[in-house]
Amino acid sequence: MNKRTSRLRAALAREKLGALLVSGPANIRYLCGYTGSNGLMLVTKKKSIFYTDFRYQEQIRTEVTGCRKRVLKRDLYSAFPLEDARGVRHLGVESGQLTLARYRLLKRGLKGIKLVPSHDIVMELRRTKEPDEVERIAAAQALTDAAFARVLKLVKPGVTENDLALEIDFHFRRAGGEHAFESIVASGPNAAKPHAGHSARKLKSGDAVTFDIGCRLDGYCSDMTRTVFVGRAASEMHRVYEIVLQAQSRALDMMKAGVLARDADAAARGYIADAGYGKYFGHGLGHGVGMEVHERPGLAAPSKDVLAPGDIVTVEPGIYLPGVGGVRIEDMVLVTRTGLRNLTHSPKHIIEL
Ligand code: ZN
Ligand code: ZN
Repeated sequence: MNKRTSRLRAALAREKLGALLVSGPANIRYLCGYTGSNGLMLVTKKKSIFYTDFRYQEQIRTEVTGCRKRVLKRDLYSAFPLEDARGVRHLGVESGQLTLARYRLLKRGLKGIKLVPSHDIVMELRRTKEPDEVERIAAAQALTDAAFARVLKLVKPGVTENDLALEIDFHFRRAGGEHAFESIVASGPNAAKPHAGHSARKLKSGDAVTFDIGCRLDGYCSDMTRTVFVGRAASEMHRVYEIVLQAQSRALDMMKAGVLARDADAAARGYIADAGYGKYFGHGLGHGVGMEVHERPGLAAPSKDVLAPGDIVTVEPGIYLPGVGGVRIEDMVLVTRTGLRNLTHSPKHIIEL
């Protein structure tokens, strides 16, 4: 944890900030280990202080390490102690994590200190995964692979999307995890909606069924998508499947440290466009995964990110045909100096059940 705080201090110096007030729950957990809901952390050049309320007093005794701990009144924002920030002229606040109401409370309490909206400082640190974090994400993915293998046994006409989603949740929960996001189980025409969720629709013979699933285990997430078919795939869907698979492998083959993230996106997108389906792939190629499901870097056309060792990102091209169905294939990979380590082990050949 201390190493992370030192990296944060170096970032604060670069940003010309005297301190950062960390309010994002995952950012706080990353810096001091806290897993509760009400918390704040102040990191200055010399000290780090964690704040919570009475309800978490006992929990933080062992859980929170590497900083001073203070128990305040329940509303940490109106009770925030000015004396802790004394001497700081520019205090960074996390603009993506703070409501306007809380920002105003802080501003009122911290007279004489300039609050500087700053966005991704801790997120940027979190981007580079430490070896221990890589193994936790790999473990979350191993559980996801196992849940997928199990749910495939239940895919048949008449089963509802809801039933399959529940089965996946059950598998995650029994192993001590939970879903990292609401599972997508999208069958038939629903598979044409990239973020469909799941419904009471019953699977029919010939359907494409897209599973976009991931769990949170020990604080870290996984994210994977597979599309399978109930019985034989129609010939166009079969073709679409092979195109998506090939597009993904084009991207995977060129990804390594030093490559522009948007070039990986372009490799997959170009392949799909050349095959005549360009307008049916409307989202970015992928995103970072870690303590949260969507992190830095972004793998999409506007991204300026350069892939670096320690990035864990998804690679998830898809083709969505309105009214018909869709195919998406998503793997989660670790970027290394020479290439990638694929953390996803579920099969990718066409599966017709
Ligand atoms: Zn996904
Ligand atoms: Zn994803």
